[in-house]
Amino acid sequence: MTIVRFAPSPTGYLHIGNARTALFNALFALKTGGQFVLRLDDTDTARSTQEFADTILSDIAWLRIQVDRQEKQSARMARYDGVRDELKAKGLLYACYETAEELDYKRKRQMALGKPPVYDRTGLNLTDEERKELEAEGRKPHWRFKLTGKRVEWDDLCKGAQTIDTASQSDPVLIREDGSYLYTLPSIIDDIDFGITHVIRGEDHVSNTGTQIEIFEALGASAPNWGHHNLLIAADGSALSKREGSLSLKALREEGTQPMAVASVATLVGTSMAIAPRGSLAELTEDFDLSKVSSGPARFEPKQIADFSAQMVHALEPADVADTLTNLGIPTTVQADLWLAVRKNCDAPQDAKTWWDMLNADAVTSDLESDDVAYITLAMTHLPEGDISSETWGDWTGALKAETGRKGKALFMPLRKALTGQERGPEMGPIIVLLGREKLLDRLQKAAD
Ligand code: GLU
Repeated sequence: MTIVRFAPSPTGYLHIGNARTALFNALFALKTGGQFVLRLDDTDTARSTQEFADTILSDIAWLRIQVDRQEKQSARMARYDGVRDELKAKGLLYACYETAEELDYKRKRQMALGKPPVYDRTGLNLTDEERKELEAEGRKPHWRFKLTGKRVEWDDLCKGAQTIDTASQSDPVLIREDGSYLYTLPSIIDDIDFGITHVIRGEDHVSNTGTQIEIFEALGASAPNWGHHNLLIAADGSALSKREGSLSLKALREEGTQPMAVASVATLVGTSMAIAPRGSLAELTEDFDLSKVSSGPARFEPKQIADFSAQMVHALEPADVADTLTNLGIPTTVQADLWLAVRKNCDAPQDAKTWWDMLNADAVTSDLESDDVAYITLAMTHLPEGDISSETWGDWTGALKAETGRKGKALFMPLRKALTGQERGPEMGPIIVLLGREKLLDRLQKAAD
């Protein structure tokens, strides 16, 4: 069985680029009948927060991603420490004492000599004596993994055959001076322990893959399959950062953006799959294939999400928006009629509130021309008797047309302006039903005065 994982750090809000990675994993699991593990990479205790972790869970649920297993790294420290000690005992993890400035200086000097800036393994060659001296100076070690240095190859699910020569890479630092782990070692241990079969992630991780494969092997495991997808970038070419609040999934969710609009755009741009709104993850899965991911970056326009979302909102049923309308204080008894009347004029479910407020306002400003004022006065006397029904608008304007010879805009616009205070809006038939006879006559009277 395939098992994938999405492994965000709860140090910020997820953005649409993270959604792409999460969705690629989820769709791959759906397509292959596999499982999806959500893993919180929360070893950075200073920057990880519960609020970010909770928001990530809400975002994932909002995207309709089914989580089969949930884990967090902070609960697994003893396991990582055990592996750390094994690697140290095998001589595969060695102490280094250079400061960041010293390393920087070494790199610059190598580059000036035309050499690749690869770590020179000073730490590996220190004697016990030298280590003691360095520690006596007050230095604390950071720890590097000793690479074999070889050609590492894999067949990437997105990018095809890949080769990295780890001999040209620095031994990766796995543990910081303060004893905390960089993400690499815990991630590999988790991937092994949770039986991850496919690691699908952004292509910014390609360069780490060679060293990671070596670490998998050093731990006696075979590396998983890899898929490195292109990254989403804004249409102007700028990278999406976690801090861009407006494109956080949380912000999109709170604005009433439809999750499948986000999922459709996040998944389909930068691939050879057709970009169109898809109604469910199952539907997105149909033609989903990681080999269809393009090699260039995936440019996307936030407006495309807004457009897809609006299209989806126009088709939502009253039951889909009931919770939102209730939270907006709209009585349950009118919710269905209101929503069906105004949904084509809403970009998000909460826009219904604007129309609800318009219907309930004491008065609206209509600004009519003088001949329209006379027309409105006439309209009052032609309003069909009795309760306003779905037939009323047609009957009423039919009678007014026969009486005045007005048609089109001249027939409808003064009524719309007098009754809603606006030149554009939902179809008037259902609106006057919602308005009711008394309020309707009151607005006409005020417009005519
Ligand atoms: N927490 C890591 C990140 O967000 C996970 C990387 C990976 O998928 O291996 O960069």
